[in-house]
Amino acid sequence: MAAEKWPVVEIRDLHKSYGDLEVLKGISFSAREGEVVSLIGSSGSGKSTLLRCINMLEIPDSGAVFIAGEEIVLRGQGGARQVGDESQIRRIRSELGMVFQSFNLWAHMTILENVMEAPLIVQRRTRPEVEAEARAMLAKVGIADKADSFPNQLSGGQQQRAAIARALCINPRVMLFDEPTSALDPELEVEVLRVIKVLADEGRTMVLVTHDMEFARSVSDHVIFLHQGRIEEEGPPEAVFGATQSTRLKQFLNASSHG
Ligand code: ADP
Ligand code: MG
Repeated sequence: MAAEKWPVVEIRDLHKSYGDLEVLKGISFSAREGEVVSLIGSSGSGKSTLLRCINMLEIPDSGAVFIAGEEIVLRGQGGARQVGDESQIRRIRSELGMVFQSFNLWAHMTILENVMEAPLIVQRRTRPEVEAEARAMLAKVGIADKADSFPNQLSGGQQQRAAIARALCINPRVMLFDEPTSALDPELEVEVLRVIKVLADEGRTMVLVTHDMEFARSVSDHVIFLHQGRIEEEGPPEAVFGATQSTRLKQFLNASSHG
C-alpha cells in the first residue's frame, strides 16, 4: 500500500454562526496532497462559508484550520474571534488559489496583467519569470490568444479560465473553487470543467464546491454532503453516489438530477 499522503488542508471541528443562525455545526475534514474533495449540498447548507473559512475570508467561531500542517493563528472567542497574525495569514493566502463563481478579474487590466498581478506584487517575483509562467498558464487553460484582451472582450467561460490561470500562477498548494461554473451557460461550462479535470488529473490538491453531481463524481477522490451545517454523509464518489446511505442525500440527489 502507498504511504499516506499528508494533509494540505485540515479542518477540525469548525463552528460558525451569523447572529442566531448557526451555519457550521462542527465540521472536520482534510484534503491530502493530490486529492480532490468536493462539497455538495443544497443552497444555504454552508458550503461557501466552509470554503471561505479555509482562507479566513470568514473567521470561524471555534475550531482550527491547518494549511500544510501549520495552524492558522486566531485569537479571541466566538464572534469576536479574529486573525491573530496578519503576516501569517497574508503568507498563507498567497499559497491558496481561490476561484469564485464571479470571476473577479480587474476590468482595467489585460488578461495577462490580471494573471501577473499577484506573482509580481504579492510574491515579488521578477517580471520575465512571471510573464513566461503567466503565458504558459493561459496556454494551459486554452486562451493564450487572449493575453492582450480585456476581460469584457471575453466570454464568461474564457473569463473563468483566466481566473483559473491567475490562481495557478501563484503556485498554490491547493486550489479552492466555489461553484466555478454556476454563472455560465451550459456550453461554456464544459470548457471550464475540462480545465478543472486536467488539473485534477495532474494531481493538484483541490477543494471544490459544485452543483454538478456528474462532475463531482468524475473528478473527486472524496465527496462531502453538507446538510444544515453538518456532514450528513461522506466518502468516495462510488459510495456517496452509487450506494447512498442517507435519506436526505437521496432526496438531494433526486432533486439535483431533475433540476
Ligand atoms: P451555500 O454556499 O451552501 O449555499 P452559504 O455558506 O452561502 O451556503 O450560507 C449558509 C447560510 O449562512 C445561509 O443561510 C446564508 O444566508 C447565511 N449567510 C452566509 N453568509 C452570511 C453573512 N455574511 N451574514 C449572514 N448570514 C450569512
Ligand atoms: Mg455558496
